[in-house]
Amino acid sequence: MISETVILTGMILIASPMKEYDKRVEILTRERGRISVFAQGARKPNSTLSACTIPFTFGEFQVYEGRNSYTLKSGVISNYFGNLADDYDGLCYASYFTDVVRYHSRENVEADNEIILLYITFRALQAKKVKNKLIRRIFEMRLLTIQGEGIELFECLRCKNKDAYDVYFKEGGLICADCIAKDKNLHDANHISLSGDARYALQYILASSPQKLYSFNVSDSVMGEIDGFMKKYLARYMPHHFKTVEFLEDERG
Ligand SMILES: [Zn+2]
Repeated sequence: MISETVILTGMILIASPMKEYDKRVEILTRERGRISVFAQGARKPNSTLSACTIPFTFGEFQVYEGRNSYTLKSGVISNYFGNLADDYDGLCYASYFTDVVRYHSRENVEADNEIILLYITFRALQAKKVKNKLIRRIFEMRLLTIQGEGIELFECLRCKNKDAYDVYFKEGGLICADCIAKDKNLHDANHISLSGDARYALQYILASSPQKLYSFNVSDSVMGEIDGFMKKYLARYMPHHFKTVEFLEDERG
């Protein structure tokens, strides 16, 4: 079988050393999802593959497609977020975001939305205008929505009343006070009551365009509510424990 060359757009998620001079990288690609690629000689200092096989590098990757594996031929870098290497906290968040996306991606499942989300999230980490802990919650919420685990935060799931502030995670969103009063089975369910400000911030995260997603901050009290909301949301829809979460500044305490 003759191997074919294809150009894939994406981002290096992780890189690991192989043999004396080689690397194995995982690339999240728009076209083919998360693929594993062999980069021969990439650890030699003068290799043309050394710069484009560093984690968090975005670009176009030309690969040979073999029967069972991909081999990197060349890469054109569009952004590499190199300054995150000097920002310990930023690096911890970037590693966590990468870890979460790895867990939720696989080969041959297109990952266009995930790549856009990672790109704008890394841009936000780099810009430092939004607090890291808020960037984290925005990223988690948007990723869950991309994964089809979105939650209804605009109106009551049952009667469409917009005056609803209680989120029932098992039901998948808001239920208003009238509907809660009618359903005795709801009373012990895992839920959270939101303030108007917290609900508005969460609605913005759900509905914003990618360009405007990381353009706001919140007060400490709203941040506390968003944290409480996300803990319950993740417990139900993303229960996996990520080792990288332990290094985040808001988890170190
Ligand atoms: Zn209702």
